[in-house]
This record gives sequence, structure tokens and C-alpha cells, in this order.
Amino acid sequence: MTALAEILIRRIHEDGPMTVASYMAECLLHPEHGYYTTRPPFGAQGDFVTAPEISQMFGELIGLCLAQSWLDQGAPAPFTLAELGPGRGTLMADVLRATRGVPGFHAALHLVLHEASPALRAVQAETLRGYHPHWIADIGALPDQPLFLIANEFFDALPIHQYQRTHGQWHERLIGLQADHLAFGIAPDPTNGGPGPQFAAEPEGTVVETCPQARPYMATIQHRLHAHGGLALIVDYGGWRSKGDTLQALKSHAFADPLAEPGRADLTAHVDFEALAAGWAPYRYTTQGAFLTLLGIDARAARLAQGLTGAALENHRAAHHRLTNDAEMGSLFKVLALYGPSAPPPPGFA
Ligand code: SAH
Repeated sequence: MTALAEILIRRIHEDGPMTVASYMAECLLHPEHGYYTTRPPFGAQGDFVTAPEISQMFGELIGLCLAQSWLDQGAPAPFTLAELGPGRGTLMADVLRATRGVPGFHAALHLVLHEASPALRAVQAETLRGYHPHWIADIGALPDQPLFLIANEFFDALPIHQYQRTHGQWHERLIGLQADHLAFGIAPDPTNGGPGPQFAAEPEGTVVETCPQARPYMATIQHRLHAHGGLALIVDYGGWRSKGDTLQALKSHAFADPLAEPGRADLTAHVDFEALAAGWAPYRYTTQGAFLTLLGIDARAARLAQGLTGAALENHRAAHHRLTNDAEMGSLFKVLALYGPSAPPPPGFA
């Protein structure tokens, strides 16, 4: 049993069952035993691989999208270039390298990062040294100026609540104990909050997830876009409306039981993009495959392939396929763009 499992079991003995959101928060960010606080989770040695770690093309094309939108909005200076959950800093490094040739872009940007893990902040400081990043602990501290923001696989790590339709009402799913092991159950009483009215007609037994922690992020982003313009690109796996139990654990690149080893596996849930876009116009929404294709990934891939042979060429081709193909990340991952009310839509969306 993991150290964190012992702590949580003791707490449930004392305080009763906990919400899925509290469980997720402890597993990911517990100061001593949390998944992100204790290990660098990415890459071949880690538990999962993210798009920027698969190929430099991902960050390069996102960089071009951001820079084109910045130009289309009159090249505002100064502006904030921000990233939520930058991981190893790979995506931002590729964005910055790809935009070096855009006149005025680097001179005008203030690089702002939001990262909960001290270990990853140290990695980011190393990867992005030279660009003077500034870390904010609270999203409200985003500077009051034009905002160009990216978040890749950030929102899927925010804790979710789960509710189950039971006798015509929503009951929260909870984690309690069965024979001294962590086990799912549901609250005996219906919840006061829970899923919105768009879910009122769902049949008995349906599970719906909500992510209240995403709301302050979206409120601040929308506030900056409204006041100063800009673009927020949110890439994640999920769909337009939350449906079903999507809590999943990944360990060593394989699915695992989310309750089996708290703190040792990555825990995520599908992102509900409808909830992220709520209250905002204009926005665009598409699949990662369509987005990268419209931004020109095929031409970029062909260009990079010219300098490669053997295993490196094979890896490059596989990475291109993995990012865009429908059977891989191409359609499971979605891209949501929120942009300034007077701005044209960013490139990459039909
Ligand atoms: N964007 C990176 C990493 C994705 S993993 C990539 O694409 O490779 C999720 C990232 O979000 C990690 O850097 C993790 O430490 C960070 N993170 C998770 N929950 C967070 C929270 N509540 N606040 C700030 N950062 C968080």
C-alpha cells in the first residue's frame, strides 16, 4: 500500500467518504506524496507522453498560430505569453524558437508560467532560461494586458466531481472504504449543486462530471481577452459535453485502477469543452488532427524529413501520424480557441 493510501484511509476513517475531486487533488498534488510533486512524469521513462514531447512540430505550429493571431490583432505591445501547466517547458521552448523570426514578437512578450510542481518549475527554469519566465501561483495574477495563452493537457489534471443520476436526482460519487480498501460509492442524499440544467433529461444511472476548479481559470482568461484582446488555445482530450465516468489512471503507459496506487499513477478526466467555453464568444473548436493539418503540419513534416534517414526518419513519420491520425491523438484530442471580441479567428480552424 502506498504512503498516500494509508493517509487517505486514515482520513476516511475519521471524516467519512471523500469526493472524487478531493481524492484527485491529493493524488496529484499532495506536497509529499503527490504524483506531480514527486516525479517527472513525462517521456519514455515516465507514465505518459504528451504532444510536445512527441514532436517539435506541435509547439512550432502552435507558435505560428499564436504569432499570426498577434499580428492580426495589431501586434499589441507589451503582451503576456502564458502557459498553464508547462511540464518540462518543451512546448514553450518550441513556440519561442518558431516565433524568433516574427518581427517584434519576442521584444513585446512577457513570459508567464503557472505550475504547481516545484520540481517541474525547476525544469522549466532550465529549459526556458534566457526568456526570463515569471511564475504565478494564482491565475488572478495574470498581468492586465493582451493575453496569448496555451494550455496542453492542463485542464484534464484538474480535480473533477462525479454525480450519478439516482431516483431522478443527482447524487455525488464518493470514495469510501470496503474492508479497509478504497472503494467507490454514492452519497445517500442528493446534492445541492451538481450538473447543470442541460443534463436534466439524462436517464437513471448516468454519470456526469463537473470541474469547478476550471472556472476561475476561464473567468480570468475571459476577463483579459475582453479587456485587451488576445487568444487562448486549450488542447486536451475530451469532448463538447461531459458524458460518463472518464476518470482514468495511467502508469507506465498502461491504464490502471484509479484507486489502486494513489500518488503513483497519473489521474486525469476528459475535459468538458462546452463548460470551458461557457459565457464566451467568439470561440472556435476542432480536433487536434484538423487543427495541425490546417496549420500546415504535412508540409512541415516533409521539410523536416529531408534532413533525416533510418530510425530517425521512421520516428519522425510515426510522430506525425501519432499527432494527427484519427486512430491515435488526432480526433480524441480537441483544440478550443477563445479570442478577443474584435479579433478575427485564429488560423487552424475551418
Ligand atoms: N503541458 C505539458 C504538461 C502536461 S501535464 C505538456 O504538454 O507536456 C500537466 C501539467 O500541469 C504539469 O506540468 C503539472 O505539474 C501541471 N499541473 C497540474 N495540476 C496543476 C494545478 N492545479 N496548478 C498548476 N499546475 C498544475
